[in-house]
Amino acid sequence: MTKRIESPSSINTFKQCKRKYYYQYIEKLPTISNIHQVRGNIAHATLEDFFDIDISSFSQDNYDFKLKAAAQKLFFQKWQAQGPQLKLLQLHKDQERFYFEETMLMIMNWTNHLIEDLNKIISQKKVSIQEAFQELTPIREQEYKSETYSVHGFIDAIQHLEGGVHIIDYKTNANFEVKDSIKLQLAIYSLLYFEKHKERPSKVGIFFLRHQLKLIPVDEELMELARREIELTHGHTDKSDHLDHYPKTVSKLCRWSSGQCDFYEMCKPQE
Ligand code: SF4
Repeated sequence: MTKRIESPSSINTFKQCKRKYYYQYIEKLPTISNIHQVRGNIAHATLEDFFDIDISSFSQDNYDFKLKAAAQKLFFQKWQAQGPQLKLLQLHKDQERFYFEETMLMIMNWTNHLIEDLNKIISQKKVSIQEAFQELTPIREQEYKSETYSVHGFIDAIQHLEGGVHIIDYKTNANFEVKDSIKLQLAIYSLLYFEKHKERPSKVGIFFLRHQLKLIPVDEELMELARREIELTHGHTDKSDHLDHYPKTVSKLCRWSSGQCDFYEMCKPQE
């Protein structure tokens, strides 16, 4: 068998339930779209394009207001662009309005944090809003691929700050905990970055859009976690693509109060 190309998502799926991995990454059965995915895509698209807005006419007196207005406008455009996908979800109008407003609040929360960071740079370094904005503009949506590890991933934002490199992923999660699956995702990004640039990022973290940025230091232990989990996954998935080798892990992630695993009907986990 040829070596599969894994990703943080596929490795986390494998760790959660091998049968789910089989359905999603070997049989490649379609997954079911939901509002959390669609609004996550809209939020990501907004933040990806935010730093392309033309701020040449912004001044010290109006950048706070103008950045907020630009963020709102961009978010609205991205929401409109996802119209067909939103329609497929068949949400009630009130539900769609709820998610629209909730996601807009997340974007405004992120914008407020950015403005705080801009304020700090402007007052500490005595630079213009344009220079401060340039300093905080990250490299966005960068794909990293490793032939050595046979893994790839898309990094939302890479910032060169405080003499180091920060790798950031955006999440719309209600829970602000850096749980194990998130830690592994960040560990894999760190390893991919290290392999390409021969330099370890100094910090890696999640911007929880309802809340704030949470960063953790990157050390050898984190990189080793990534190597170990990648190896364990390949050790299994490169050897077999037969259903029998991908057992079910029945847990509360099969079905919960408001939803179920995309493959629940086919899998029949209780049988
Ligand atoms: S329903 Fe449960 S056991 Fe079946 S694939 Fe999904 S997570 Fe795994």
